[in-house]
Amino acid sequence: MIISRPQSGKVRTRRNIVMSFLVGLFLVAPWVVLPDTSPLIRLDIPKRMFHLFGGLFIPQEGLILWFFLLTMGLSLFFFTSVIGRVWCGWGCPQTIYTDLFDRIGRFVLDSKYGKKDASILGKYTVYFLWIVVSFIASFHWIAYFVSPYEMLADYMRFSAFSETYFYFTLFFTAAMFIDIGFIREQFCRYACPYARFQTLLMDEHSWNVTYDFKRGEPRRDGKTKIGDCISCNMCVAVCPTGIDIRDGLQVGCVACGKCVDACTSIMAKENKKTLIGYFSLNQIETGAKIKWVRPRTVIYAILLSVVLIGASIQLLTRIPMSMIAASNKSMPPILIPDNKIRAFVALRIQNIAPVEKEFQLSAFDTRHGKEILIRSGEEGNQFKLGSGEMKSFSIVLETQSLTEQELNEGYLPGSIVLRNTQDPEEKLEKTLSLSLPRK
Ligand code: SF4
Ligand code: SF4
Repeated sequence: MIISRPQSGKVRTRRNIVMSFLVGLFLVAPWVVLPDTSPLIRLDIPKRMFHLFGGLFIPQEGLILWFFLLTMGLSLFFFTSVIGRVWCGWGCPQTIYTDLFDRIGRFVLDSKYGKKDASILGKYTVYFLWIVVSFIASFHWIAYFVSPYEMLADYMRFSAFSETYFYFTLFFTAAMFIDIGFIREQFCRYACPYARFQTLLMDEHSWNVTYDFKRGEPRRDGKTKIGDCISCNMCVAVCPTGIDIRDGLQVGCVACGKCVDACTSIMAKENKKTLIGYFSLNQIETGAKIKWVRPRTVIYAILLSVVLIGASIQLLTRIPMSMIAASNKSMPPILIPDNKIRAFVALRIQNIAPVEKEFQLSAFDTRHGKEILIRSGEEGNQFKLGSGEMKSFSIVLETQSLTEQELNEGYLPGSIVLRNTQDPEEKLEKTLSLSLPRK
């Protein structure tokens, strides 16, 4: 386990701002309730609904999920190829919380933090505070799945212990305490899958934390000093993953920039510019400007734009209702007097709008352009559903009188239409093939 030295500087200050914003966002977002009483963001697994910025999504909307995952993947490809592992150093919870745990450790133990001779009481105080932070973070993580207001009320009433979420919170608290407190940088170096393939996404033009070996080497060796690097090893001492950036780009580098601040302050004493900074390898080797536009970045940008346009079209044309219709296999259509056909259909309808809506059902014989009568048990085949509410029921379809020729056609192509009564243009249509009974 590596406890790196703290380091102040410009990068540190900027990271503090970004990290405070991200932690604040993480802690506040699950508590936000919109004016229509829906949560700002929540993946409600028992109800199989995803609330996001006022929209309500259900698992049947696979295309939107597909676009979402593709956008995430391509964004990772694009940003890594342009600005390296910025996610690792500035946005990854592993890095942010390791930083927070170190601050707590230093606050309690000061310079004894990470040392074997630190007091036992001090060490256990740090562990206790780490557990408290882990619990708060885990509570908020679970709050993205369960209402934090309900959870808090349960905790206040001491009734949370019988709820599933309580055991998930305990599990995540223990996992976070062990991971951030003791596994720390080992996760980045040996377990993180993103660290494994990031080298494939970057090239010599990617903007990264890089050592200027042209100026720095040969580094000082004893009293011999040729290059600018004075071998103070501060860049290694501050590194949270314990690597030496002077050995080149490595899987272990999380691009946190602490070595940039360290070398900047050391070199300032020598009246020189930092040897470690956000450069591209090509910039160091040739002195040329960073080449932002290159085949790799252009291809990722085009793919990302195509997916974003597709996702936008999908979202803008989305109809916030869902209907599944299936003929009842155990009750095939029957012939009734006047050459009419009676068929039995099972329906599952869900309102996926953030507000209550009234719906109306209608059905058609699409081959002959005739309306089909629906018996749904609802007056005027109209019914109301609250936001997210689902209704499963059976309906009976009754065709108009069919001619002998129509009856001999073998099947009847039909459609069931679900309309929003307040906005008839908002409708869903499901096709249905009704097999006709032989006379
Ligand atoms: S090498 Fe520098 S940027 Fe990379 S992890 Fe270490 S301190 Fe952070
Ligand atoms: S901090 Fe700068 S000067 Fe010191 S060892 Fe690292 S690269 Fe060399």
